[in-house]
Amino acid sequence: MAADACSGHNLELPTFSNATQKKMREFLSPESATANPVDMIASGGPEEYEKVLNIVSKDKNIDSLLAISVTPPTLVDPGAVLEKINKVADTIDKPTLTVVMGKDVTEGKDKAEASVKHGTYQFPEAPAKALATMLKYAQWREKPEGKISNYKINKKDAEKILGKNFKDKKYLSDTDVVKVLRAYGLNCVASRTTRTHLETADIAEKLGFPVVLKAFAKKLVHKSDIGGVEVDLRNRGEVIEAYYSIKQKVDEHAPGTFQGVRVQKMVQDAKEVILGMTKVPLFGKLIMFGLGGIFVEIIKDVQFRPAPLTDLDTEEMITSIKGYPILKGARGEKGVNIDIIKESMIRLSQLVCDFDNILAIDINPFMVSAHAESSLLVDARILVGPTDIK
Ligand code: ADP
Ligand code: MG
Repeated sequence: MAADACSGHNLELPTFSNATQKKMREFLSPESATANPVDMIASGGPEEYEKVLNIVSKDKNIDSLLAISVTPPTLVDPGAVLEKINKVADTIDKPTLTVVMGKDVTEGKDKAEASVKHGTYQFPEAPAKALATMLKYAQWREKPEGKISNYKINKKDAEKILGKNFKDKKYLSDTDVVKVLRAYGLNCVASRTTRTHLETADIAEKLGFPVVLKAFAKKLVHKSDIGGVEVDLRNRGEVIEAYYSIKQKVDEHAPGTFQGVRVQKMVQDAKEVILGMTKVPLFGKLIMFGLGGIFVEIIKDVQFRPAPLTDLDTEEMITSIKGYPILKGARGEKGVNIDIIKESMIRLSQLVCDFDNILAIDINPFMVSAHAESSLLVDARILVGPTDIK
């Protein structure tokens, strides 16, 4: 069970070298197994535990030990076995965990002190998980720290909007959101608010078809949920039709809130990713990255790292999402420009580090294409508020 649990956690149980096995053979009964795991059969007592652990701990393929003393009825006293295991554990510098089954050695006068010194468990799966976690932690500590680089940004422009104390939480207006993001070099799609069908058609013509129309209404958050987003509109007729369709949807959903629409150029040949920031107690500002679009809440293919982000953070976050192959280009589809995603993540990290009154940012989607210039943010929200909200 322990061996299965170990391999389930991707821990290897290498076969002991011939020399190691030979040393064990010298005193173990012939029925014993010595390859790994070692099975000393029921006759293995405290002395055998001590000897075997000393031998296998010297095998160069072994990084940690898991000693298991099995269930009663048994010929040996598990307390005495545990004492020997701990004795070996004290002298070697490889993590040594123990399982003592069938007897609670953590209670009573029975070796309470010895049992807590090194990890002692009642069942074989838990120490396998503990070893795997120790390994993960060690690997994390050995990782290079990475570099924090800063892009040239235009902090003054953002300060005009963010350089004050907000007494209450609120979302910035869409125009302010775009100004702040552009000040930090984030590429936002051209967007105009219009209030009549004719004005909408004129603006669409000016921007160039195809365009996208989005509902602009008080308190409306998820526009597509109510049918408030119409994409790929190719001429004035389609734009005017979409304008009224959106107006009708908003009127049905929340009468009296319709203020107009936003007209945007349609971004083509792009994949949708999400970028964001959220403040979390203990960790502070966490930057989020993942596959974007309207299904992001359902798919939840996202990664978080604390700001400020390093070059290694961005690399890891992007390559570790499940949808990474989609971004790289799968099944004959062209990949997107990964560098512009990394750059945008760093710029976002710079922004949230510069302004503590930003409580949350949600950019969904950032439409990334094969080229940096044509990769554009098309929908973003910024929540601001008092800085003492952690
Ligand atoms: P919401 O998130 O409020 O529903 P979005 O502005 O994110 O609204 O739009 C929803 C979806 O519409 C996006 O995920 C994207 O697929 C598409 N979309 C929005 N704006 C554009 C655009 N300018 N170009 C291309 N597709 C867009
Ligand atoms: Mg959106």
